[in-house]
Amino acid sequence: MCGIVGYIGTQKAAPILLDGLKKLEYRGYDSAGVAVQTSDGVIDIRKEMGRLRILAEKLDGGQVLEGRCGIGHTRWATHGKPDSLNAHPHTNAEQSIVAVHNGIIENYSELKKNLAARGYEFYSETDTEVAIKLVDYYYRGHKDPIKALSEFALRVRGSFALAVLFRDYPDEIYAVRKDSPMIVGIAGGESYLASDVPAILSYTRSVYYVDNLQLCRLGKGTVEFFNLDGERVEKSPVEITWDMKAAEKGGYEHFMLKEMHEQPAVIRDTVNSALQDDNSVDLSETGISEEELKKVRRIIAVGCGSAYHVGVAAQYVIEELAHVPVRVELASEYRYRTPLFQEGDLVIVISQSGETADSLAALRLAKNHGAKTFAVVNVVGSAIAREADFVFYTKAGPEISVATTKAYSAQLAAVYLIALKLAAVRGTVSAERNAELASALRSLPQKVQMLLDEKEEIKRFAFEAMNKKDVFFIGRGIDYAVSIEGSLKLKEISYVHSEAYAAGELKHGTISLIEDGTLVVGLLTQSGVIEKTVSNMEETRTRGAVLAAFTAENNRKLPAGSDWTFRIPETDELFAASLAVVPLQLFAYYLSVLRGNDVDNPRHLAKSVTVE
Ligand code: GLU
Repeated sequence: MCGIVGYIGTQKAAPILLDGLKKLEYRGYDSAGVAVQTSDGVIDIRKEMGRLRILAEKLDGGQVLEGRCGIGHTRWATHGKPDSLNAHPHTNAEQSIVAVHNGIIENYSELKKNLAARGYEFYSETDTEVAIKLVDYYYRGHKDPIKALSEFALRVRGSFALAVLFRDYPDEIYAVRKDSPMIVGIAGGESYLASDVPAILSYTRSVYYVDNLQLCRLGKGTVEFFNLDGERVEKSPVEITWDMKAAEKGGYEHFMLKEMHEQPAVIRDTVNSALQDDNSVDLSETGISEEELKKVRRIIAVGCGSAYHVGVAAQYVIEELAHVPVRVELASEYRYRTPLFQEGDLVIVISQSGETADSLAALRLAKNHGAKTFAVVNVVGSAIAREADFVFYTKAGPEISVATTKAYSAQLAAVYLIALKLAAVRGTVSAERNAELASALRSLPQKVQMLLDEKEEIKRFAFEAMNKKDVFFIGRGIDYAVSIEGSLKLKEISYVHSEAYAAGELKHGTISLIEDGTLVVGLLTQSGVIEKTVSNMEETRTRGAVLAAFTAENNRKLPAGSDWTFRIPETDELFAASLAVVPLQLFAYYLSVLRGNDVDNPRHLAKSVTVE
């Protein structure tokens, strides 16, 4: 969500800023801007509504701006409509303090009133402009940027990553953050600042993660970190091991297609990171001990969007294998409840980016109540990873497409491994069953590949379903968990209205929406409930629906008169979500392509949701 970049060094800043913003385009945005400063302190702000390309063209790729120090931003509007006035960078009245911001200043209206009473005027609708004028207010007193930004950080509520230019300090960039990510990279005489690694990866692999409520000052090839008391803080850089290739399309038409095709490898890598040759699961890298796992009496799985859907699948798998009760919670709801914690609670927070604002807040809530927290995240060194007691890193590599596919698959693999480990320490599965499950896990990648190889079939299906206005996904148990993910994929990128329902729940109200030609997609991989779902599908057909069945290879119980039937390779039913989701991802993808949508950057969406 939104992108921030900063550069100071010996080269022209604007081309580097535009290049960095380009690498962050995948995060989603509606306008873009840069500000560059020359050594005599003149700050030039340029911003445009719409794609980054428009700004880049106006600036001749950045060449028209001379300054060697600057900041850039792609905005995902939260306060004030997306237009060029509200676009960042924003400034104080004299254009002597100019900044870009990611996040939300929650108490901005109160601050705005106070500042207005002191004579401040506002030209935009953004909370960011208020933030900058507040920095201006503090700065006026003492002319000390670190002090002003610390005072600002203590006064505002909400989340922010703020990168600031001060005219009085023309060869420096200042930054402060809380709950929105910010990283720094130094290479020779150049310094870079960004909200995410891809922006600076072509310049350096050695990255500093700015901590929460930390500040930094960048000079040419230098960086210093400070706490809110203005004291220097020593930090060491982290080495980024993946390369830029992983963040490029590699011949595929879209990142999403490439990432779907990476799923076999991603599942294999994630499984192999913990599953041993003797079929045991080793979670020691996460930091959790067998003793601690034995003490677990209840699991609360927390996430947003697809990560929440992983939690729903995990519920069935963990309860079945390890006999530990699991609650699944939406992070945005959970964080504002008064949850009842008990001895033996383990809160599993699932997040691709590790920066999801709601999930981070849920994690902190759990920690404050003394619960143990276990993160399943993809990004090393991210906020959730740093703050959780234990961390399982999924091996998905960078995921660029806004709609997740491979990170979801890696998260599923991670929760299977956790389930197996819990089962082992609690003695709830026999050695034979454990061996069966381990072998099923090992064969998932090859079966996902088989499904990807069948993609032409799904493409035809998407073509035939192209003009559908409503699609229902139904299933029971793990098939329900897959339904909600399949439905979300469709909504996210094809913009077709879709609902996911536990198949048995449909007739308690929603079946009234079924009309002639409504597409009902039934998931049929769970043998114990297949007949039930088949009946529910038939009930919709009686009312005019057309049916598509995604069914386990050997299942012969199908709804009479199914319009489409797709076979899913056999696997252990507990892991069926990993397979059944693949054709649903492909379906959403092809429908999106056919409808001419921007697959990788769907409207209104952002990749890592760092605001609530
Ligand atoms: N809240 C700010 C705005 O609406 C920042 C949005 C962002 O993170 O892009 O301008």
